Order: sequence, then structure tokens, then C-alpha cells
Amino acid sequence: VVALETKVRWFEEGADNFARAAIGTPFEVSLSDDRRYMCPLCRLLFSREALVTKILTGEHVPPDFFGGRELVLTCTPCNNDDGSDLDARAEELERMVAVLRGSPSAVARIKVHIGENILRGSIENQKLTLPKKINSPDAIKAVAGNWDGGQWGFDKRKDADAGARCSWIRAGYLVLFAALGYRVVLDPAFDSVRAQIDRWKESIIGQVFAEEADGTPDSFRLVARMKETTLGEFWMVQFGRLRLIYPDFGDVTFYDRVAQVDPARRPEGLVLGWPHEPFRPLGEVID
Ligand SMILES: [Zn+2]
Repeated sequence: VVALETKVRWFEEGADNFARAAIGTPFEVSLSDDRRYMCPLCRLLFSREALVTKILTGEHVPPDFFGGRELVLTCTPCNNDDGSDLDARAEELERMVAVLRGSPSAVARIKVHIGENILRGSIENQKLTLPKKINSPDAIKAVAGNWDGGQWGFDKRKDADAGARCSWIRAGYLVLFAALGYRVVLDPAFDSVRAQIDRWKESIIGQVFAEEADGTPDSFRLVARMKETTLGEFWMVQFGRLRLIYPDFGDVTFYDRVAQVDPARRPEGLVLGWPHEPFRPLGEVID
């Protein structure tokens, strides 16, 4: 847990960073204004009291279930309402990945279609259970142990894939905010990223995952500066096996060009480290 005094420092450094980054933008603040912290997601401004009233809180990046720690301040509506919707979906899909990898402790809900019948259950400890109380007795009787022609799939909640995708997009965006400050929040190239997080059921920015690095431990974290012929320079954030790409400042057509990239040509990358606290050089650890 991050102490309140640390969060006060994040607020103060954030307010300074925001005031500097906002110069020459529509968000410019006058020196006489009260100090304000902008939520990096909804771009509303908050005063220091918002920390005490818990309207600004520390957000886990990446999400809790993926071993994330509190890294940045976001406002409660962004953190609780929107964040939990997306993160619950990402967590559900991660449990399915764990089941497919054969992890003994993984639990995931599944459904089995056999002819006209659908049976629901779960995989736990690599065993399938179809509880009687959630399945119709008729369906159980009709199947009667005959699984021929049965098809099984994960029992996902509505918009599971879209929500999970946006949970990762949101986490990577917050990492870049921690690493690079309010330039990320105020730059027009990131407007489409925020729009995608906000309207998460739609596909606004298209392809955002660079690739999956299978076999990488979930605890792996990386921010890198990349370079490729079609894309020019861009940012990459990696959590475990998941690699996400973000535009360079001012590059408003970045995601339109991703589809034109020649997969045979690998981008060059420069590893920059990982933000342990917001508004600090990457990789710097403060105690
Ligand atoms: Zn917000």
C-alpha cells in the first residue's frame, strides 16, 4: 500500500508536470490558479483535497490480478467504474489462458454443446465439473454420458475480448503516463487511445498488440522506444507475454499505418526500463 504522503508527492509532482506540459496547449493554466492534478483518463482537474476525500486514488498498473502495484493517481469514477469493468474481463481471459497452459490451480467457466443441449460448468484442478444445480436435469439426462460430437468452449461474459483488450490498452497508457508525464495525456496522438478506452466495446484504433512473447513470465515489465520503416519511432509497453504499441508524440495516423507493416521486418528497439514512481526517470527506484 502506498502511503498518503507518497500520494501527496505524486499529486504535487503531477501538478508541476501538468502546468509545464500544458504551456501552449488549450489546457494552459495561469500561475495564479490553484494547483491542480489532471486525471490522465478523463482529463478532469482535481485539487489536493481530492486525495483526502479519496476522489483521487492510487491505481494498480498493471491490474492487481497481474501483479501490478499502485503507480499513478486516477479519479474514482475512472478507477472503480470503468477500470473494474475492463479488468474483470481481462482477469477472466487470463484464467482461461492459465487453464490452456495446464496450470493446476487455474479455474475457468466453460460450456459444452452436445446436439441441442448446452451444459455449463467449470474446469478446476484440470477436472471438468458440470454441477446439477446450474444445469437442467433434462439436458443431463439427454447427454447421459455420451459426449460424441460435443463441443466445448469457455463461458465468457459479454464483450469479454473487447473489455480485456481495453484493460491492457488502459494499463499501457497509464505506464506511459507514469514514465513520460502529461505530454502523453495532452498530445493529440493519444486522443484515439483514450477514446478507445472510453468506448471499449467498439474497435477504434485497430491493432494495438505487437505480438505475444510466449513463455515470458507474467512478472516481466518493459518500456521500450521502437523504430520501424512504416511506423517510424513509437513506444512499446510489455506486461508478461503481452506487447502493446503506442504512437510517438504528434503521430496522429500511427494506428492507421500498423496494418501496412511488413511482418518480416522486425522493428529495432531500445529498452528504457520501467517506471517505479510517476514523473521520474525510468528504472529509478526511490525509498
Ligand atoms: Zn478520471
